[in-house]
Amino acid sequence: MEPKGTAKTPGGSTESRPTPGHLHVSGHPLVAAGLSVLRSRTTTPDVFRRHLQEIAILLFAEASRGWATRSIDVETPLASCPGAILAKPIVLVPILRAGLGMLDGILRVAPDASIGHVGLYRDAETLRPVSYYDRLPSNVGSANLLLLDPMLATGHSACEAASILKAQGAQSMQFLCIVACPPGVQQFQGEHPDVPIIAAAIDPELNDHGYIVPGLGDAGDRYFGTG
Ligand code: URA
Repeated sequence: MEPKGTAKTPGGSTESRPTPGHLHVSGHPLVAAGLSVLRSRTTTPDVFRRHLQEIAILLFAEASRGWATRSIDVETPLASCPGAILAKPIVLVPILRAGLGMLDGILRVAPDASIGHVGLYRDAETLRPVSYYDRLPSNVGSANLLLLDPMLATGHSACEAASILKAQGAQSMQFLCIVACPPGVQQFQGEHPDVPIIAAAIDPELNDHGYIVPGLGDAGDRYFGTG
């Protein structure tokens, strides 16, 4: 049942501001164990899906740790006591298509989040990401927004997506990924120093095809079984 009570002013709550250039790599043992399952070439799509979703939930918990809450009064069966609700709505924006896997996980613990989508393809000549689709909820400007993509490889897609979101009013954004690598982190922090990155791991390098090594392969193909 929804807690009842009158929302108090957010005076007592604390809101953490994004730290410029902040990179948070999860040290959580459940994340490390789940990531090892994702990395294994023998992991089947059903198991891959479950673990990617679970890691996304754990990263979501880390990303939301500093979010502001508002005080409410809650009536338990025995007495009233202080409670809390989130001060801002949540907007989740997966980058199509692999970001959908992270969305599936996070929606299990934040079912009332609004959802936007950003679709990008890579231009064959310029190798730059080009937007073919974006559709965002109207509350992007007032929400805690999480941009989702499992792999931060070159960083170009994430940068373009973050620019699209900012152009549509996003104020408070974090980027959640499963595996990042130094070139992608550098690129993203260079273009969006105000957007913290939350990752399960940082891998050493990119190969000539733009894949993270050791990484976990093509996240979208492994999640959707299209490899
Ligand atoms: N996208 C993926 O799915 N995997 C990588 O390693 C890089 C980009």
